[in-house]
Amino acid sequence: MPAATIRPRFDLQTAFSVRAAEGGRRSPRRMRALAFGDAPQVTPEHGPTGRPRRDPAARLRAMVIGPRGRMRMDPFGTLGFGAERQRPTDTPHTAPIRVIENPTSLIFTVLETESGGLSTEEIHLLSAGRQLADQIAGEGGAAVVAIASGVPDGLAEAGADRVISQPSPQTGQYREEWFASQLSNSITTLRPHHVLFPDTLSGRDLAARVASQLGTKPIFGVHQIEAGNCVRVGFGGTKDLTSRTPLILSVAESFSASPVAEWGEASDLAIEGPQGPAQDLIEDLGLLPVTGADLPLEEAPFVISAGVGVHDWTAFDAVTTEVNATQAASRVVCDRGDRPRDRQVGASGRLSTAECYVALGISGAMHHLQGIEACNSVVAVNTDANAAIMKRADLAIVGDANEILRALARKLGGGAT
Ligand SMILES: Cc1cc2nc3c(=O)[nH]c(=O)nc-3n(C[C@H](O)[C@H](O)[C@H](O)COP(=O)(O)OP(=O)(O)OC[C@H]3O[C@@H](n4cnc5c(N)ncnc54)[C@H](O)[C@@H]3O)c2cc1C
Repeated sequence: MPAATIRPRFDLQTAFSVRAAEGGRRSPRRMRALAFGDAPQVTPEHGPTGRPRRDPAARLRAMVIGPRGRMRMDPFGTLGFGAERQRPTDTPHTAPIRVIENPTSLIFTVLETESGGLSTEEIHLLSAGRQLADQIAGEGGAAVVAIASGVPDGLAEAGADRVISQPSPQTGQYREEWFASQLSNSITTLRPHHVLFPDTLSGRDLAARVASQLGTKPIFGVHQIEAGNCVRVGFGGTKDLTSRTPLILSVAESFSASPVAEWGEASDLAIEGPQGPAQDLIEDLGLLPVTGADLPLEEAPFVISAGVGVHDWTAFDAVTTEVNATQAASRVVCDRGDRPRDRQVGASGRLSTAECYVALGISGAMHHLQGIEACNSVVAVNTDANAAIMKRADLAIVGDANEILRALARKLGGGAT
């Protein structure tokens, strides 16, 4: 026969008097323990069951932001990043610093940032540089050299062992031509093992120029490097292509580099030789202004779109011109010929990624909504408060789209009435 459990005497009065004497927050668990006369020792470190208490604030203090912008645990402060999140002053950062006195080889990483903090992509590029340096490190070790015009913040935290600060071109000098000549000079002088560029439009452009000046072939969009080989995506994104890691390569955002575990010294590396092209072949006339009407729909940041509810095309044209927006339309409007087909947004049209998409007189049919899934903010104007677009909208205005367009045109001085 199982032994009978004897329930302790319930003493609510003692429980209340003890709690009143203790003050502080009400704890049902402690009250219960007091009432049954078996109160355990509750301390700031231990709960009533005797188990250590969790301290979410301490946990948060120990976290840093990794190179991909994610929060990571770093209780001992050994990870080499976290420039974006300041630790409290009483807990100084104690990441070990890697000292490479006489590197046997160099990896160049070409950064685009001129001042301020490094972008996540650049921290990632430096991590890729470190990974490559570890793979080829000889006896003296391989150093990661950050090359930038100016000196951005956070280079040491991101693992740069050396820094080459390139002077900026003057007005009228073509930036890419200028930097390409400086880089070629640095490469011929210091003979790095590899030169890594960001896989952006300007990164690729610069990489191609440098490669052509040095008479070598670059590889773009590398997402993996291992044992002297690099892997990139080819055949329209359907296959991985492996080749020997070249001197010049651009590193894709998807490159799988783990965050650096040590800070670099980020000490200056001086370069002798010409500080720019011997002769400027290209004169930089600056950027041409682009109007909203010139932009392809997929890239336009500010789009004003018309549906069946819009009839006043004069006011529509005036408003979109005045606010420099890109025009778009629903399929029915394009079917009618009121707007050209290349302006159609939706499942069978273009996909908009606008920061702000203004939908005028559009019902918000499923096929249209598919085209604005990636838009950041949607403003809808519709006479029907229950239209589907109003649910998708961040700002829903119930009203006549044509009257609103005319009022806006008058206000903006576009001439339409
Ligand atoms: C296979 C397929 C593919 C499709 N692909 C697309 C596509 O890519 N893109 C696309 O847009 N559609 C597409 N459609 C069509 C889609 O289903 C809808 O028919 C279309 O989006 C409706 O366009 P609309 O909102 O302009 O017109 P309507 O559905 O007629 O809506 C008009 C809206 O205007 C409002 N309104 C009326 N007068 C005013 C006023 N004075 N002021 C303010 N609001 C007013 C009404 O309340 C209503 O909500 C596709 C359909 C199919 C079958």
